[in-house]
Amino acid sequence: MLPASFVESLSDTGLDSASQQTLCQTLGQGETPVSIRFNPYKLQDRPEGEPVPWSRYGFYLNERPSFTLDPWFHAGVYYVQEASSMFLEHICRSLFDGGRSLRILDLCAAPGGKSTLLATVAGLESIVVANEVIRSRALTLADNIRKWGLGNVAVTNNDPSHFGALEHWFDLITVDAPCSGEGMFRKNPEATAQWSPQAVELCAARQRRILSDVWEALRPGGILVYSTCTFNRKENEENVAWLAENYDCEGVKIETDPTWGIVRGEVPTEDADPIPVFRFYPHAVRGEGFFCAVIRKAGGRIRNRLSKPRRTIFAETTRQEQASVKPWFGQPEWMHFAHIGDQLYGYYEQAYSSMREIAERLSVLYSGILIGQLYHGKLKPEHPLALFHDLDRTAIPMAELDKETALNYLRKQDIPVELLTEGMNLVCCEGAPLGWIKRIGNRSNNLYPKELRIQNL
Ligand code: SAM
Repeated sequence: MLPASFVESLSDTGLDSASQQTLCQTLGQGETPVSIRFNPYKLQDRPEGEPVPWSRYGFYLNERPSFTLDPWFHAGVYYVQEASSMFLEHICRSLFDGGRSLRILDLCAAPGGKSTLLATVAGLESIVVANEVIRSRALTLADNIRKWGLGNVAVTNNDPSHFGALEHWFDLITVDAPCSGEGMFRKNPEATAQWSPQAVELCAARQRRILSDVWEALRPGGILVYSTCTFNRKENEENVAWLAENYDCEGVKIETDPTWGIVRGEVPTEDADPIPVFRFYPHAVRGEGFFCAVIRKAGGRIRNRLSKPRRTIFAETTRQEQASVKPWFGQPEWMHFAHIGDQLYGYYEQAYSSMREIAERLSVLYSGILIGQLYHGKLKPEHPLALFHDLDRTAIPMAELDKETALNYLRKQDIPVELLTEGMNLVCCEGAPLGWIKRIGNRSNNLYPKELRIQNL
């Protein structure tokens, strides 16, 4: 049952009364479309399926399979993402031509849908700072980033106010704000139970706080994408209008195809182009409820004043250490290798100095690619290296397992040793790497991380 005051509030959205009724029926039905976005760095050929119209990598599935029982899900070959959210891909493609490396902040990032999308479309020489303020959620975000395996992301666990230390640092900031979740009513009945007009007011105030905390970190001329999964104007257009009244904002042109079913709108600014907003209604698009606005920070002088670093994190590697890890990389000439404590990490050379600036100022949980430790010049590889898209497969024997055996590996069970080569093996299923296993004579040591293992299935 939808809350009566929610139904009443729909009259403010601009939808006519017939559409409001259809929307309420749709929200009550409980049938949600299932969509996934594949990882082009791990799967070269586009899979079969109906495409999500505004995304190059997204497509719909006819039914919801058990993703946990699909080894490719654990290999980061695809991410299960609600289709409307994939519109961020269209925004990025409309604004950035891929020619230059970008500094991107995804401020409210867990569990990682938009961060993995941004990391994919931004290119490997860009950096995505995927931030999540709630620690337990930030840990899940880090798991998903490692699984996606691109190496151009830093996962941070900071309050939005901490980004003041990075004045004018980012080219693009996405604020996928915590909201009252009206657009998720059919997908998540809990959102319906927690909804109230007071919750809407609280969310709107918190969103304004988040926006003002992070605004200074955006460079003049940079882009802010503000989004929610709710319909009310307070958390959406009214917050965008509040931003335009208090900060120098201007609109940006984004084309959309009328057949997509997205409802376009505008929020006026005092003397610049109006800010375009996009509304996704589940009765009109094949996706959940979603709102987003694309705002350019009006021009001005870019200041490059960074706060003093809080600490030094990285230590450089020796030539000998580099020689030991290079064979594990398809394109080692693109990489910069560095120590954090005893562990070796790999970063794209172009992004390394940005990664360092972030690591010295924020609370970083994970960044780049964790490679492992060297013992007498021999690498003991860590799990994220197995999932790195540019791991050189010829560096190590591959154990290609059938689906059932691969699932047993993911349950951290023993694997028949005759399937393995003596020493370290890269476990794969249908060509996609899942992790490491070591054969020592007649026994094997399953090195899949125990905190990731599939349980009870
Ligand atoms: N962008 C994510 C994705 O696509 O997978 C979903 C983000 S979810 C809509 C909003 C996130 O904001 C949640 O992970 C939540 O923990 C976080 N959050 C909650 N309170 C916050 C606050 N005060 N400041 C910043 N983020 C907050």
